[in-house]
Amino acid sequence: MSLPHLDEAAQLLAELVRIPSISGDEAAAADHAQAWLSARGVDSERLGHTVVARVEGSQPGPTLLLNSHLDTVPAGNQWTVDPHAGVWQDGRLTGLGANDAGGCVVAMMTATARLAAQPDFAGTLLLSLHAEEETNNRGMGDFLAAYGAPDAAITGEPTGLDVVRSQAGLAVFTLQWHGKSCHAAHVARVEHDNALLRAARELATLPDWLHPGEEHPLLGKSTLAVTALHAGGPHNKVPDLAEALVDGRLVPPTTAADCLAQLQEKLPSAEVAIRSERLGPIDTPEVDQLVQVALEAAGRSEAVGSTTLSDMALLPPGVPAVKVGPGQTARSHTPDEYLLLDELAAGIAFYEAVVPAWFQALHPQSISS
Ligand SMILES: [Zn+2]
Repeated sequence: MSLPHLDEAAQLLAELVRIPSISGDEAAAADHAQAWLSARGVDSERLGHTVVARVEGSQPGPTLLLNSHLDTVPAGNQWTVDPHAGVWQDGRLTGLGANDAGGCVVAMMTATARLAAQPDFAGTLLLSLHAEEETNNRGMGDFLAAYGAPDAAITGEPTGLDVVRSQAGLAVFTLQWHGKSCHAAHVARVEHDNALLRAARELATLPDWLHPGEEHPLLGKSTLAVTALHAGGPHNKVPDLAEALVDGRLVPPTTAADCLAQLQEKLPSAEVAIRSERLGPIDTPEVDQLVQVALEAAGRSEAVGSTTLSDMALLPPGVPAVKVGPGQTARSHTPDEYLLLDELAAGIAFYEAVVPAWFQALHPQSISS
């Protein structure tokens, strides 16, 4: 494989690893990314700490988004090396964010710079490097508010270049039990209704998790898990309110409303509500051109599913999207996370191949050479 820009890309990854960029604190990393792109003739703009670059092809056409994220989670205390040393050793760079998602960011930036130098495609390529993906998906939200929905999107997360076309969504539910309080000293003679006990008794009837809805061929079944319970305060007052949270990982076609109905049926005395369903599931059909060109560029025969969230969860329903990138998801958020130089090279080659292939697949007649 001939990749003259690999050295430059490897250096960029080392530089980014040396710049701390914990969620919400990505300004310096964003500055560096913009300067790097600008030095290669790619203009970009800022949306907070998110960097967006636009590359116009030689002919007009649809819009393809490449997106990944600049932020990292904080380093735990189990690291055996300086997480910001940013040193390549024996074809491996160990550092905070090297795998999640530095390799994807650098591979996308490198591919974008190379495509900008020779934009032989009919359409618009957008590169969006997001802030706060690890905490609240702010960068993707800001991008969509400013640019609108693209015609297709490739989200860069470490998948070992597997093509993820289906991703579970997240919905959070609140359960509330209302009771009637009294002074704890009067429980034997004053009428009351202990909300804490009602919640505990009803929750104890549930299995460890629920499996609502149908099975998805790549994602299995949705899950609902009770993850928090709050009730009571002062020791001398019988609580009149208990509240629990339920985390729902939803696979298509199961919806938050389906889950709400099931929770309400199993917990008849609780008041069940949807607290959040902003992060929807993704289910791009295997036959979609984006999936097909991604499989071809990645050298894979079939797409896979993923239960971990990513920024593509914010895309409006119906926008074809896949999640593909160099590195391994199992290394994300672990001490001594690393990326291999071979992985970086394969990532660059993937993005560089998939972008023109997607434009070509949509408009085969537009570019003759
Ligand atoms: Zn990530």
